[in-house]
Amino acid sequence: MSNQNMQTREEIIKLQSVQALRQTMDDYFSRLKDATETGRKKIAWCTSVGPAELLYSMGFEVYFPENHGAMLGAGKNADKYIPTAVAHGYSPEICSYLTSDIGAFIQNETPLQKMGFKSVPKPDILVYNTNQCREVGDWFSFYAKHFNVPVLGIYTPLGINELSAVVIDNISKQLQALVPELEKIADQKFDIDKFREAVNLSHDGCVLWREVLETAMHKPAPINFFDAAIHMGPIVVMRGTQYAIDYYKILKDELENRIENHIGAVPQEKHRIYWEGMPLWFKLSSMAKLFAKLDSCIVASTYCNSWVFDDLDGNDPFNSSALAYSKLFIVRSADAKQEVLEQLMSDFSVDGIIYHEAKTCPRNSNNCFGMQSRANSNNKIPYLELNGDLNDPRCYSEEQSVIAIETFIQQLAGN
Ligand code: SF4
Repeated sequence: MSNQNMQTREEIIKLQSVQALRQTMDDYFSRLKDATETGRKKIAWCTSVGPAELLYSMGFEVYFPENHGAMLGAGKNADKYIPTAVAHGYSPEICSYLTSDIGAFIQNETPLQKMGFKSVPKPDILVYNTNQCREVGDWFSFYAKHFNVPVLGIYTPLGINELSAVVIDNISKQLQALVPELEKIADQKFDIDKFREAVNLSHDGCVLWREVLETAMHKPAPINFFDAAIHMGPIVVMRGTQYAIDYYKILKDELENRIENHIGAVPQEKHRIYWEGMPLWFKLSSMAKLFAKLDSCIVASTYCNSWVFDDLDGNDPFNSSALAYSKLFIVRSADAKQEVLEQLMSDFSVDGIIYHEAKTCPRNSNNCFGMQSRANSNNKIPYLELNGDLNDPRCYSEEQSVIAIETFIQQLAGN
């Protein structure tokens, strides 16, 4: 009898790599804490799909407020902080990463305090890219004003259909223009060879991350969306370093071993689902159990696939960075996004799709703009639309959602 057959529906076997993941993330936060306490290294804040490689290559420790926002959500604390940001003039309808992060800061609370931080690491400079949304500019500007430090932005046009030379050249020039501004703050001058090296490390880390996600093409999938949402930490915060590469080699080995031994992320995989949109961070574990109980594996997602920047190339670091960060799903036109979605649904043998409409992030909620109908008329894959949010639990009804998911899976079983 295979290990797969010995699993019960309630028993989700945890990935053993989680120990190495914990260590990798702890080490990352230790480096940030050391920089905060000793001042030995400068600290740059960066958006999750911002120019991390450039910052690491110039000797900064890099902190990502979105990662912090996800920690607040996963810790089920966002609703404690959002009202404080609202009281300071931020609408409850805008990005709940932003409102929970700023609210927590005003309340002087952070999950990092459990790791010995007094507060979030004080920035020496903040750098954002609007490739994901305009909100990041407002978010970073709040902190720039508070700490009286510079904030730099790359302005990427939204809805890019064709990745033309004009677009790439423009973003590449904006990236190059950051260099003299960063040099005013960094302890070291820009070195093209160090930048090439960081870009190559980022490329290799992204390729490994893609290969990790692609293991889920196998039936049964050895990893699902809920695992991937946790294990994506290093590719978000350590892109451009050897640390991310080292970790994804460990994870990939374990997943390949699972494939050899027919071990699935979901004990009895019968239905293969695609997740479009953001995770509900505050429901990650209960959702993982619910889908496992329904013999359904979420095998692929737009969200986790967003950190596959495999166009990065150290031979042409500025232009390839401009291409990679403008090719990102969220910044593309509806037609380009649909093409990517349909390809992923086909590659991962998906038989149902869930569109999570995150109330406070329309940019990550493609069903707001009719994608679900257009994709369905092409590939006839059934879909479910789920109302919720990345962090704000007031936008989510547990009872309604569970009934909707159970009914959807019954329909798939009928098909
Ligand atoms: S993409 Fe959405 S969730 Fe991410 S920072 Fe922008 S508004 Fe917030």
